[in-house]
Amino acid sequence: MLTDRSLIKISPKEREMLTTFEQLSAGSGSHSPSLGTIRHAIPEISVDIDACYLSNPLATDLFWTHFNADILADPQLFKRMLEAYPSQNSAIAERLSPTIGVDADRLFIANGATEAIQAIIHNYASHIHINTPTFSPYYEFAGPEIQVTEFQLNSADNFKVDPQEYVDSVRRSGADTAVLISPNNPDGYVIPDADLELILMELEDLRTIIVDESFIHFADRPTPIDELPTLTGITEQFDNVTVVKSMSKDFGIAGARAGYAIMQSERVEQLLAHGYLWNTSGITEYFFSLFGRPEFLGEYRSELSMYKGYIDRFTSATAKFDFLSAFDTSANFQLMQMPEGVSAEIITALLLLRHGIYVRSCGDKIGLEGEFLRIAIRTESENVKVLKALSEILG
Ligand SMILES: *Cc1c(COP(=O)(O)O)cnc(C)c1O
Repeated sequence: MLTDRSLIKISPKEREMLTTFEQLSAGSGSHSPSLGTIRHAIPEISVDIDACYLSNPLATDLFWTHFNADILADPQLFKRMLEAYPSQNSAIAERLSPTIGVDADRLFIANGATEAIQAIIHNYASHIHINTPTFSPYYEFAGPEIQVTEFQLNSADNFKVDPQEYVDSVRRSGADTAVLISPNNPDGYVIPDADLELILMELEDLRTIIVDESFIHFADRPTPIDELPTLTGITEQFDNVTVVKSMSKDFGIAGARAGYAIMQSERVEQLLAHGYLWNTSGITEYFFSLFGRPEFLGEYRSELSMYKGYIDRFTSATAKFDFLSAFDTSANFQLMQMPEGVSAEIITALLLLRHGIYVRSCGDKIGLEGEFLRIAIRTESENVKVLKALSEILG
């Protein structure tokens, strides 16, 4: 609600645009209104920085460089992507198996991790226990047949997942499926290895445990020099665990739709027996072929480490802000709580109107009581602008 006009000075023109913005937000459910929708409704807005979208911009550039070079070297490449069917699911799994370090028969290739989440929930869950706040498809895809219960995370505790309280909560709920996102979206909390192991050991008899590691590349983990960070070392000893991985955020390619899940081979077999034959696309397959090239991964790792430097500088700056509280994060975004009496919705609108910066207001996130913004961390020059804009509006 737009209730804090007394705290922040707003011009009559801005007030008018704020009202339009509020209507757009109200009409867009549990996701933010798209930039296209906003531009259409408020043509005065020019969007400079999209800090809503959680993508690694350095990785997008890396992909783009490779794509252009490959198209130049083989002018028919893109035509073939359009004209031909992509490889079958299991053929892509076969090729990716060495890179991911998992047997091909345990790899389910997905048209974005969202598809894998949907497949798992619809086939291997009848009652799902989620942590709130969370990534909304985990409860939205449940539909009326699947029961959903919640384990409430606490902002005062930095959204920590206390392992024993968590296990007790799953048991009390009677759920057959549990979801752990680490680092979690929207708060960025990463479950320490020892806690994760304890939880998985205690819940070894549960039907399904989803461990979503879509943001794990951004977390600080000891990782061998030629590998990528992953939780699969911990999860592989547990048969009921399904690891879900999106490539959208860390590789900056949400439009390509690429993700996968690692699960028991019987489950992969069952899913593939009933669909998902050519569920990727030429562009997804192209991305996966890049992902399998050691030199691409080497370059990706160096871009990632540069980007992590940007993340560290951004979070050290927000730690010094006395006008809002920024939560510790192990992902490439940061959750921020507004000062008493200030609405996140208003700050979101003002960042957009005055500075052309689009951030995520979290008013629609279940289990997040209070006024929060989630801000994606981008390139250095963009981050500097975001930090300055926050100080100007709130400082
Ligand atoms: C974005 C996201 C996904 C899904 O991403 P896709 O684009 O469908 O690959 C899955 N899990 C979490 C936690 C996410 O934030």
